[in-house]
Amino acid sequence: MSYQRPNIARMTGYAPGEQPTGGGVIKLNTNENPYPPAPAVLEALGTIDGESLRRYPPPLASPFLAAAARLHGLGEEQIVATNGGDELLRLAITTFVEPGRPIGVAEPSYSLYPVLADIHDSPTHRVPLCDNWSLPDDFAAQMNRAAVQLTLIVNPHAPSGRLESPERIAAIASELDGVLLLDEAYVDFVDPEIAHATVRLLADHPNLLILRTLSKGYSLAGLRFGYGMGQASLIDPIRSKSRDSYNKDIVGQRLATAALEARDHASRGWAAVRSERHRVAEALTGLGFAVEPSQSNFLLATVPPGQLAAELYQSLKQGGVLVRWFNQPRLTERLRITIGTPAENDTLLARLTALING
Ligand SMILES: *Cc1c(COP(=O)(O)O)cnc(C)c1O
Repeated sequence: MSYQRPNIARMTGYAPGEQPTGGGVIKLNTNENPYPPAPAVLEALGTIDGESLRRYPPPLASPFLAAAARLHGLGEEQIVATNGGDELLRLAITTFVEPGRPIGVAEPSYSLYPVLADIHDSPTHRVPLCDNWSLPDDFAAQMNRAAVQLTLIVNPHAPSGRLESPERIAAIASELDGVLLLDEAYVDFVDPEIAHATVRLLADHPNLLILRTLSKGYSLAGLRFGYGMGQASLIDPIRSKSRDSYNKDIVGQRLATAALEARDHASRGWAAVRSERHRVAEALTGLGFAVEPSQSNFLLATVPPGQLAAELYQSLKQGGVLVRWFNQPRLTERLRITIGTPAENDTLLARLTALING
C-alpha cells in the first residue's frame, strides 16, 4: 500500500539534465554559465562567521531586496526572494491556483511546469507554439476559455531561445483573466541593442509576475537564488503567507546581494556568451544544422539531413561532451546546446565536425 496522494502516485518527477560528479566532462547540457561568479561573491562567502550561522537570517532577505530594488527601480515591497526561480514557480502555483483548476503553459517549454502542476493536482492546459516558436495570436483567449488562473511564459523561450517583445507580453497580460508569470531565467543574455525592458510593464499590469534567477546570468546555479517582481498587491501574499518563514539562508542572502552589486562583472560574461553564441551558430549552420535565432545562452539546432539527433547526442556523450536531447514532440531531431567557453565550444564543434563528416 502507498501513502502517497493519488496525484503524486500518478505523476512522474522532473528529470534534470545529467550532473556528472567527476571532472573531464564538457557540460553544455543544463545552461549553466561557463564563467565563474564575480570575485566579490567569493569574498562575501569569506565573511560568513559562526555568529551569522547561529542566528536566523533576515526573514525576507531585506538586504538582498534593497539591492534588487535599486537595480530595477522598484520598491522592496514589490520583490520576493526565493530558493531558485523554481521556488517562485511553486509559490505562484500555491498562491494563485486552486487545486484542480488548470495551469496554462506554451508547448514546448520548461518541463518543470507540468510537474509542478501535477504536484498541485491541477491539469496543465497546453497551448502549442507556432512553427517559429512564437505565441499564437489567440494565446490569451485560449487560456481564458479554459479558465486558467495562472499562465507561465518563458521569455526568451526555452528551449528555442526566441524572444517575444515587451509589447506582446503586455498585450497578453492585459487580455488574461488570471496571473501571468513571465519566466525571465535567460533575460540577462538578451542583446542590449534590442533594449528589451519588461520591468516597467509592472506599473500597468497588476497580474504580471516576473521571475528572475541568479543561476544563469550570475553563474550561481549552485546557490539556489531567484526572485519575483510584481505590484505589491501580487507579491504580498507570497511574501507574507505562502512562503516558508526563512526560505533563503544567510549564506545565500549575502552572496546573492554581492552578486547583484557586482553586476558589471557578470555583464562581461553575458557579452562573451553573446559573441560565442553568434560564432557557434554560424559554425553549426556551416555543418548543415538549422539553428534557431537565440537571445539566450543556448542554441536549439536541428540536425543535418541524414543525421539522428539521439545518435549525435550519444556519440558526443561517449566523447565526454554533454548536450541536451529531449525525446518529445518537435524536439526529437534537435539538440539544445549550452554556450560554453570558447575552448569548450571549439571542442564541441570539432567533435561534431568529425561525427558528421567522418
Ligand atoms: C533555470 C530556469 C529557471 C530557474 O532555475 P533556478 O535554478 O531554480 O533559479 C526557471 N525557468 C527556466 C526556463 C529555467 O531554465
